[in-house]
Amino acid sequence: MSDFLATRRDFLKTAGTTLAAATLTTQLTPSTLAAEGSDQPFGYAVVGIGGLTKNSILPAFAGMKHARLTGLVSGDLEKARETGAKYGVPESGLYTYETFDKIVENPAIHAVYIVLPNSMHAEYTIRAFKAGKHVLVEKPMAISAKECEAMIAAGKEANKLLSVGYRLRYEPYNREMIRMVQEKELGNARVILTESGFNIGNPEQWRLSKELAGGGSMMDIGIYALNAARYLAGEEPVEVVAFETTDHSDPRFKDVENTVTFQMRFPSGVLASCVSSYGTPLNRYRVHAERGSFELEPALSYGGIKMRVFAHGKTEPREFPAVNHFGAMMDDLAVCAATGKTPITDGVDGLNDLRVIEAVYESMKSGQPVKLAQAEK
Ligand code: NAD
Repeated sequence: MSDFLATRRDFLKTAGTTLAAATLTTQLTPSTLAAEGSDQPFGYAVVGIGGLTKNSILPAFAGMKHARLTGLVSGDLEKARETGAKYGVPESGLYTYETFDKIVENPAIHAVYIVLPNSMHAEYTIRAFKAGKHVLVEKPMAISAKECEAMIAAGKEANKLLSVGYRLRYEPYNREMIRMVQEKELGNARVILTESGFNIGNPEQWRLSKELAGGGSMMDIGIYALNAARYLAGEEPVEVVAFETTDHSDPRFKDVENTVTFQMRFPSGVLASCVSSYGTPLNRYRVHAERGSFELEPALSYGGIKMRVFAHGKTEPREFPAVNHFGAMMDDLAVCAATGKTPITDGVDGLNDLRVIEAVYESMKSGQPVKLAQAEK
């Protein structure tokens, strides 16, 4: 158990507090961390210094309450050194992919955030667990359900937490959509419509390589539409049917799919209709309920999400304070590690998406609906 965890658990025990972890997330502050006497704030090593890391993840540390950046892992040590200098990571926190396993000896690293091409997620997650660290892994969790199962097993064996980078679960607009469905604000949800897509460019990028990405738009962007349909429904789909349109003579799509539409049936009777695309910009989630509808558009951007509620003959916007999705997600894992709470975006969440994606690919190929018998909660 890390110093950070030990101190936090002892604190909770001696204080006799029964605070639910969810309320704790908002109540812990940097000053309460200090009051626990921990000299080891929750530290992250970020693996992969590409676009997402540079533009979104590293800048998010400045606004975080419960965690700090203590390590960087890159194929290029000079890049790690330059980035480390900018963000205050000491030389002792810098690793290459070859020396990565030595993080086991670094007590300032409590968790590893894996921000690599999708096909590398499973390997680095399992290596991080073997080094005794918690893991936050970017979406998609891996490129197959089998890999996800191995990652979950490795986390259990190491007794460490696994969180998947579904950042929208940590921001208020998507949470409000979930609340409105759960509390039946406009009655029972009947139909969920989710669309996520963008026009992909350079045909040489790893996102267009089946080997590195595991697939095309479904793995990268369509997974947002899928994940949202699942969290809005609040249950796991039992059947999926999918259609694909891809021009394989386009150099971008030699290997992977472009646009997919897929429909899912949920046990309660809710239906979802979803679009995933590398050929058109799509950014909208909508729920049709008994007495009206509500939607987010944009729904999955890093900021600027907008909500509208259509009911009683009126359109009402709803507004919430801006939240840094990455900061909130990283802070949440730190709180989970301290309290023993399971992250809401755990390995089973990631696995269930991969199970549906595999069924989407099967249905696209066969032209038949595919039953999903063994989805986990
Ligand atoms: P990127 O191409 O900008 O960066 C990838 C990093 O991996 C680079 O540092 C690169 O050097 C390294 N790398 C190591 N081996 C590589 C290889 N064989 N080929 C290519 N790069 C290799 O990608 P990115 O946009 O930062 O995406 C990284 C991960 O983050 C992906 O899993 C992606 O799905 C995810 N992502 C999530 C979000 C989100 O909003 N949650 C947004 C963008 C990306």
